[in-house]
Amino acid sequence: ELQFTSAVEVLFRMYPDVRKAVGASEKIFEYMDRSPRIAATGNLVPEIFKGHVTFQNVTFAYPSRPDTPVLKDVSFQLRPGEVTALVGPSAAGKSTCVWLLERFYQPQAGKILLDGKSIWEYEQKYFHSKVALVSQEPVLFGRSVRENISYGLGDLPLDDVITAAKYASAHGFITGLKDGYQTDAGEKGGQLSVGQKQRVAIARALLRDPQILILDDATSALDTETEHLVQTAVYNSSQHRTVLVIAHRLSTAEQADRILVLEGGQITEEGTHQELLEKGGSYSRMVQKQLQGFQKDSTSDEEGQEKHV
Ligand code: ATP
Repeated sequence: ELQFTSAVEVLFRMYPDVRKAVGASEKIFEYMDRSPRIAATGNLVPEIFKGHVTFQNVTFAYPSRPDTPVLKDVSFQLRPGEVTALVGPSAAGKSTCVWLLERFYQPQAGKILLDGKSIWEYEQKYFHSKVALVSQEPVLFGRSVRENISYGLGDLPLDDVITAAKYASAHGFITGLKDGYQTDAGEKGGQLSVGQKQRVAIARALLRDPQILILDDATSALDTETEHLVQTAVYNSSQHRTVLVIAHRLSTAEQADRILVLEGGQITEEGTHQELLEKGGSYSRMVQKQLQGFQKDSTSDEEGQEKHV
C-alpha cells in the first residue's frame, strides 16, 4: 500500500501535469488522500525554519526488496549555508537518500530530522514550500516557459522570473526562442533540449526560494563549463540555504563545502575536496579514475552533453 502511494506521488511530483491529465481518476486521489503515509504527516508550520537536516542511523530497504537494505545505519548532517555533495559509485544509495528526504518512503530504522523535528511532523504544503528537488530529467508541461518557471507561485512579475532564469544560465537561450518567455515549453517533440529543461527546472526551484535545495544530478546534460556557471550561481544565491548536490561528475563536488562519500549504503568518508584528496581513500581514487577516463578518451564523458546556448 505504502509502495503504491509513493509511486503515485513520485509520478505527480515529477510530472506536475499528470494530475491534470488523469483528473478523471478521482479514485486515485481519494486513495492517496486517505493513505496511511499521507495521514502520518503532521501539521507543524513553524514560523522560523532554518533547514538543518539530520540523518540519524537511517536504515532503509525498498518495500519490494525488504531483505536487501539499501542504506545501512547512515548518519550525516546538512547545514544551512552549506553546500554538501553526496558522491559514490552507481547503486550506492545516493538517490535513495533523496527519496527519503522527500518523504517518498519511510526508513525502517533511524530518523530524519529537520531542525530537530521528525521530517514527518511537518505539514504537507509547508514541507514542499521549504524543500525543493531538481532531478535529472525534469518534465516541463504544456505552458509557456515563463509559466513553467513560476509554476505554482501565481502571477509573478516577469522580472522575478528573469532573475531566476539568469541564475540558472537559462535567460540567454530563452530569449533566443521563437517567442521568448512566452514560448510553449511542452510542444510536441519538445523544443527544448535536456540541458535547457534542466536549467528551466533550476530556475523554477530558485524562484521558490526553498530553504533546502536538492539537486539530484540536475546539471548532468550540461557541458562542464555551463555546469560550472550554473553551480556557481546557485551556490552564490544560496548563502542561507541548505544545498545537497548529487553528482556523477566529481568536478561538481569540488566546489562544495563538504563531501560525503556513500558506498554500499554506508557513509565511508566525509571532508572537503582537499581533505579527501590528502586522505588518499576512495574519494581520491574515484577522482583519479575519472581523470584517467578523461585522458583516455576526452570525448566519452562529454557525450550527449550540450554546449551553452
Ligand atoms: P546512481 O548513481 O546509479 O543513480 P545511486 O547511488 O543513486 O545510483 P540508488 O538509485 O539510490 O543509487 O539505488 C540504490 C539501490 O537501490 C540500487 O541497488 C537500486 O537498484 C535499488 N533501488 C532503487 N530504487 C528502487 C526501487 N524503487 N525499488 C527497489 N530497489 C530500488
